[in-house]
Amino acid sequence: MEYARLEHTQIDLRVHEKDECQIPEACTIHHRTDHHMRSFKQFYRFDRGIMERICTHGIGHPDPDDISIIRKVDDGVHNCDGCCFRFATDEEYNDAKNQVE
Ligand SMILES: [Zn+2]
Ligand SMILES: [Zn+2]
Ligand SMILES: [Zn+2]
Repeated sequence: MEYARLEHTQIDLRVHEKDECQIPEACTIHHRTDHHMRSFKQFYRFDRGIMERICTHGIGHPDPDDISIIRKVDDGVHNCDGCCFRFATDEEYNDAKNQVE
């Protein structure tokens, strides 16, 4: 076990060591791929055992580098405003919200 800093946070999480990565080419800690949610804060969901990325609207989306998401062990279901797929602008976000209401 070792400590690693979650991206864009001051939080250190105890994680597996680098040589114990289950999928070395994709790990939320040791091998972050170049996905568009990289600018979002990481947030670890202890209840679910997955890493999330918190978008600028405060909504958590599963980190695409999470092994449970990649292997579909976790269904990845979440309350989504679309920031998973690409950045929603504030305008798009508000539009989406207004359409629901
Ligand atoms: Zn790892
Ligand atoms: Zn999402
Ligand atoms: Zn969002």
